[in-house]
Amino acid sequence: MGKLDGKVALISGGARGQGAAEAKTFAREGAKVVFGDVRDAEGQQVEAEIRASGGTAVYVHLDVTHEEDWQQAVQMAVERYGKLDILINNAGIVIPRVPIEERTAEEWDRVMAINAKGVFLGTKYAIPAMRRAGGGSIVNISSIAGIGQSLHQEPAYAASKGAIRIFSKVTASQHAKDKIRCNSVHPGPVDTDMLHSAMPDPEILQRRLQRVPLGRMATIDEVVAGVLYLASDDSSYVTGSELVIDGGALAQ
Ligand code: NAD
Repeated sequence: MGKLDGKVALISGGARGQGAAEAKTFAREGAKVVFGDVRDAEGQQVEAEIRASGGTAVYVHLDVTHEEDWQQAVQMAVERYGKLDILINNAGIVIPRVPIEERTAEEWDRVMAINAKGVFLGTKYAIPAMRRAGGGSIVNISSIAGIGQSLHQEPAYAASKGAIRIFSKVTASQHAKDKIRCNSVHPGPVDTDMLHSAMPDPEILQRRLQRVPLGRMATIDEVVAGVLYLASDDSSYVTGSELVIDGGALAQ
């Protein structure tokens, strides 16, 4: 028996990295999965892999900053699979750190639009469908940047991830009456393209990892295990909480 048998999940940013791994794992655990991204070719490849291994999944074009894309993604889940139980707001971007005087308002707005407004829009359109399903679970992928290690964070990224941390708690409090849970996940450095493109210099990456007591990056699967826990009924009494998966980075 899978941990998500009978559930329907929607995942943003699912074409690669953690989101693609979540789509594959959720399908393996019995969920019917709708997942979206702006990288359509990579997303379609992930869909083909899931189907080839016997899973049920469909890729949709989903730019998380576009309201109509979210409406269509939720509609796809409900029309094709009958309902929506789980939303993973995973899509995100990071931008290179520069002195604040050099950061443009356009760059700030873009980070906020994808990392924070995208989570708001997903939640806005998922909640009515989850209410009709009798409840649900929303998992927002934040970061340790949304909690601390502030000396080392890119300000717009940290602000966007902090915004969704508290937005998760507000969502949890205000929709508990609908039996909808909402939690945030706060990974430290994870071995994905995002981290390697943000830190292409191995020396800088090594310095970054020295601030992690376990001394290494998380594997994608180590984060997905936490996301699966929060998505599934294993966490039925967990809402408004934050799951830190950071090798001890915030404990220092
Ligand atoms: P990734 O870059 O591999 O994946 C991010 C995905 O989001 C990509 O497929 C990308 O195309 C998609 N995306 C970007 N803009 C989008 C948009 N407008 N609409 C839809 N999709 C969009 O990186 P990842 O590490 O898998 O990141 C997943 C999440 O984890 C992100 O929210 C990220 O901020 C967070 N996170 C990552 C790390 C890390 O070290 N990798 C650490 C903490 C938190």
